[in-house]
Amino acid sequence: MGGLGEHLRRRIALHGPLTVAEYMAEVLADPRHGYYMKGDPFGAAGDFTTAPEINQMFGELIGLWCAVVWRLMGEPRAVNLVELGPGRGTLLADLLRAAKTEPEFGAAVRLHLVETSPPLRARQRQALEVAGLADGPVWYDAFAEVPEGPLLLVANEFFDALPIRQFARTDLGWRERLVDFDEASARLRFVLSAPGGPSPLMPPSLREAPPGSMIEVCPAALSLAHEVARRLAGCGGAALIVDYGHPESAAGDTLQAVKRHAFHDPLAEPGTADLTAHVDFAALARAAAEAGAASFGPLAQGVFFERLGIAARARALQARATPRQAHDLAAAYRRLVDPAEMGALFKVLALTHPTLPAPPGFE
Ligand code: SAH
Repeated sequence: MGGLGEHLRRRIALHGPLTVAEYMAEVLADPRHGYYMKGDPFGAAGDFTTAPEINQMFGELIGLWCAVVWRLMGEPRAVNLVELGPGRGTLLADLLRAAKTEPEFGAAVRLHLVETSPPLRARQRQALEVAGLADGPVWYDAFAEVPEGPLLLVANEFFDALPIRQFARTDLGWRERLVDFDEASARLRFVLSAPGGPSPLMPPSLREAPPGSMIEVCPAALSLAHEVARRLAGCGGAALIVDYGHPESAAGDTLQAVKRHAFHDPLAEPGTADLTAHVDFAALARAAAEAGAASFGPLAQGVFFERLGIAARARALQARATPRQAHDLAAAYRRLVDPAEMGALFKVLALTHPTLPAPPGFE
């Protein structure tokens, strides 16, 4: 067992088994051993590749989306452009470069980055400097710290990293899935809490799920969606949430660990693999509606980017590419939009001020 394994063993010995949410928070965000705290997990040499790392078109088209939404908002002189979990900063650099074609929008942008990982903050600063865009971004640990004001928010593969709780329906009732340390084998293992009634956090439609079902809830995602929506309803703007997940709340165990581009046991060698769960987009939309925002979608990522004109953008880039680059562009285009690749599993949800017209892609 590594440093985090030993820390978890002691914590469980002192306080008892952890909820899956407590376990995820330790694995991803422990200041010394947490997965995201240690460095750069992205790309071919890392553990996984995200859409902005596949091709510049992803960030560019989101940049043009932001510029159009800014016009729909009535062109506020200052707009808070917030990215949640910017990773290497690639999406933001591509977004801002594309936004240069709309100089008035570019001049209105105030950059706010929500990122807890110190090494990734450094990567983001570097990416913005290289792009000549380092003008005054401010970093925060949490969205609640970002100043109020008209808002454009982007989050790609952020909500899947927020800690979930899991509840198993058994013949005895609902039991929460917990992470315990088994002294005999010196390994972490799943156990179930004492049986009880359904958690009030569970979507009402799933509280009567049959024995054998597993229900997931993500309290951090619900409170974040609520807070983003409250800001949108109060100050105007829109949020674009891109992630893998399901359009309707549904039963199922989606907790997954990924290491070097392969699935990994979520309890083995904690802190060395990324740990995520599918996003329940319907639950996010309900939380947003409660706070007074409108929602659009979720749309399949492939459909959304086709509607934004990714095919034309790919052809324009190919026209001035070497044969090798043209080949890579065609492959990247397929990876982003093909339903057999990222096009269908990944979805796009927009949250908006209730009187904002439908944003691009959702008309
Ligand atoms: N958006 C990027 C990175 C996705 S990985 C991309 O598409 O490539 C998740 C990102 O969110 C990382 O930057 C990670 O450090 C950050 N992160 C994860 N949990 C967080 C939390 N609770 N608060 C703030 N940032 C978090």
